[in-house]
Amino acid sequence: AFQNTHFITSAPNIGKLPPDEGIEIAFAGRSNAGKSSALNTLTRQKNLARTSKTPGRTQLINVFEVAPDKRLIDLPGYGFAKVPMAVKEKWQQSLSEYLQQRDSLQGLVVMMDIRHPFRETDQELIYWAVASEIPVLVLLTKADKLKPGQRKSTLLQAREAALAFQGDVTVEAFSSLKKFGVSETERVLNR
Ligand code: GDP
Repeated sequence: AFQNTHFITSAPNIGKLPPDEGIEIAFAGRSNAGKSSALNTLTRQKNLARTSKTPGRTQLINVFEVAPDKRLIDLPGYGFAKVPMAVKEKWQQSLSEYLQQRDSLQGLVVMMDIRHPFRETDQELIYWAVASEIPVLVLLTKADKLKPGQRKSTLLQAREAALAFQGDVTVEAFSSLKKFGVSETERVLNR
């Protein structure tokens, strides 16, 4: 469903995004969570989103077009220790504004390493999205890092934990390496 996705632009901040029309799905996650890999996997493209060796290097928002009225928004990774506090706070503020004010935003995908789910910023993002009545898909990335039994129990625990947000929060395990969770993710994104 996302094979025809192509890059349109990089925006330095939320104010520079394309006009607030059509449908947007935003992708967020801590640096190194596997967001770029997941975007490439979902769009069946090798280099759509550049996987980086230096986490937190880019603060640009990458905009991809799936169809004329549908965009994927690749938000900058957060949680990178070397980013100064002032930059972090500014970013968090514009992110919360985006989640609260962007009319075309119809879904938020939050990626978190299956070994470290629900860190503080992940939870904040989910709260903001739920407060704005935006459906959230949590992807537990790098699911191949756990053995099947552990993967299953972590997924069930995370689904239990997600109930606390009292919103539309779906949780799936995902692996770009082993292609786990791809069809489940597509199903949620096409809902
Ligand atoms: P981003 O910073 O969130 O965009 O993360 P990247 O997609 O660049 O991935 C960060 C690191 O995790 C890279 O070294 C990837 O090779 C690795 N990685 C990404 N996805 C997976 C996965 O599904 N399984 C495993 N084992 N490693 C992954």
